[in-house]
Amino acid sequence: MALEFSERVQRIPVYPAAEGYALGSDIAMLASNESPDVPPPEVIEAIARAASGLNRYPDPTSKELRSALAQRYGVPVGRIAVGNGSTDILLAAGQVLLEPGAEMVYAWPSFSIYPHMAALSGARQLEVQLDKDHRHDLDSMLREISVATRLVIICNPNNPTSTALPLAEIKAFINEVPHHACVIIDEAYCEFNLLNDPDESVELLNTHPNLVLMRTFSKTYGLSGLRVGFALCGSEQLRLALDQVRQPFSCNAAAQAAATEALKHQDEVARRVERTLAGRITLDEGLSELGFSPAESQANFVWFDLGEDADDQEVVRLLKDRGVLVRSGSSLGRAGALRVTVGTEAGNQLFLQKFSEIV
Ligand SMILES: *Cc1c(COP(=O)(O)O)cnc(C)c1O
Repeated sequence: MALEFSERVQRIPVYPAAEGYALGSDIAMLASNESPDVPPPEVIEAIARAASGLNRYPDPTSKELRSALAQRYGVPVGRIAVGNGSTDILLAAGQVLLEPGAEMVYAWPSFSIYPHMAALSGARQLEVQLDKDHRHDLDSMLREISVATRLVIICNPNNPTSTALPLAEIKAFINEVPHHACVIIDEAYCEFNLLNDPDESVELLNTHPNLVLMRTFSKTYGLSGLRVGFALCGSEQLRLALDQVRQPFSCNAAAQAAATEALKHQDEVARRVERTLAGRITLDEGLSELGFSPAESQANFVWFDLGEDADDQEVVRLLKDRGVLVRSGSSLGRAGALRVTVGTEAGNQLFLQKFSEIV
């Protein structure tokens, strides 16, 4: 007799796991938008110090990390949630806001976790196609919002298409969203966005209690492997609800220590961003020379169409055989496209060289 699974489980889309983690170190890992740089030595020391106390549970309130974040962003500690990556907090937001009969609105293609949030909760998802420049179509999104809408997500810059909208447009949009609906701006890549200063959106929290800014230590800070992210919330009730539905220790001790230390090294963040922006130009120009038209990237990756009848999965396979891992558009919601993370200078060059040999 076979096990019977809940309808919720059957609704969850299957996202192919990133490959390459068992391969050698000479592989260019450009598939998961990670930082190519290892954490700064002070952060590794902080992790080592935390390691010697791992017989104890972590601080369930993540007091040190949340206080450091409160200081950095000028947001009260009570309105800051931390978690096992920002994905943990996104899934919690789905749990506290969604249920059968409720609706969520987001753009598509966008972050692969959003459909999970609807599937897990039994809510209905309204996916609004991006515009021809691969950007959020806020007017169309606004039209999908109704009395049943509990959650609206804007991914800015958007994964997987790399594009961003100016904050002024997002601000005008939020002003139109009814107060019963929560708006999450997923800002995992905000440090790479040249349209606005990453701290500008924080001010919106003072006037919009239904707003949440989702941030992570996985990208710029290079701590993907530890799993730590945070949410800056417009209201304390929402932060309390996010904590209510999760286990008390969703942010582990090493992650708390590392993130607290990492925040102190903003000069290092700035250097990483600078290198990434240079690499982004390298990829953008290289692809343009090969005749492709990448979307206007404001993130640490580029996104482009391979052209008519191109088989993106075959291109991914051929690149993998040549030591370069990238992500197929097919696995991210749009066949015929490719997403390539900005890597080291050598990694970027290797991609361009191998890609030019294939096409
Ligand atoms: C990478 C990413 C995140 C961060 O995920 P973590 O769980 O913090 O590693 C969040 N949102 C988007 C759009 C991302 O691409």
